[in-house]
Amino acid sequence: MDDRETGRVLIAGGGIAGLAMRRALRRRGLPSLTLERRGEPADAGLAINLPSNAVQALGQLGLGEALRRVGSPVRRREYRTESGRLLFAVDETAFWGEEARPHCLRRADLLRLLTLDLDPGDIRRACEVAAVRQGPHGVTAECGDGRVETGRLLVGADGVHSRVRRSVLGGRAPDAAMLAPAS
Ligand SMILES: Cc1cc2nc3c(=O)[nH]c(=O)nc-3n(C[C@H](O)[C@H](O)[C@H](O)COP(=O)(O)OP(=O)(O)OC[C@H]3O[C@@H](n4cnc5c(N)ncnc54)[C@H](O)[C@@H]3O)c2cc1C
Repeated sequence: MDDRETGRVLIAGGGIAGLAMRRALRRRGLPSLTLERRGEPADAGLAINLPSNAVQALGQLGLGEALRRVGSPVRRREYRTESGRLLFAVDETAFWGEEARPHCLRRADLLRLLTLDLDPGDIRRACEVAAVRQGPHGVTAECGDGRVETGRLLVGADGVHSRVRRSVLGGRAPDAAMLAPAS
């Protein structure tokens, strides 16, 4: 039985969205293979603020407890003018409750959490998806190193400059939004 018959899902991109998708599929017992361009997860030491919806989504992925052990909860949010005058403040704990209040952590820690207890065999690193093709029985992903992977469907989670989007939509693919240069 090949992977199309087993219903394997291909995921292009192993960033936040791709790893969250991989985890969600795993929790439902659905096989997947993630194809990630980078050889190692990027760790520029950057932090990320997770708003409450992200915190709740991580809870649904079974990571609520693990999340509380890294980074810091955001207890209060303030909006100020350039000169420092307070415009508006939110008591995040009172607003969302302790379980769902926003949380700040290193990006590297978030990526590590998303892979917690998952089989490293279902992610292939240093594998750039060059093109995808849809057929009557599934989808084929062609990787830059010449390998070809097949699956029942493919999730494009390859970021804002998505190769998957361009491969599927061609010239109809919308560009990423750009800020107009300051005049
Ligand atoms: C400076 C900055 C600060 C931000 N701060 C916050 C914040 O505080 N809170 C917040 O919620 N959001 C924040 N964001 C937004 C957040 O980073 C993005 O929404 C999020 O990273 C999107 O995740 P993603 O998985 O869709 O894409 P990405 O994080 O871009 O991941 C895409 C992945 O796909 C891989 N990839 C790309 N092309 C291919 C290919 N052809 N084949 C295989 N793999 C490929 C990449 O290597 C990458 O691992 C910030 C963004 C920026 C730029």
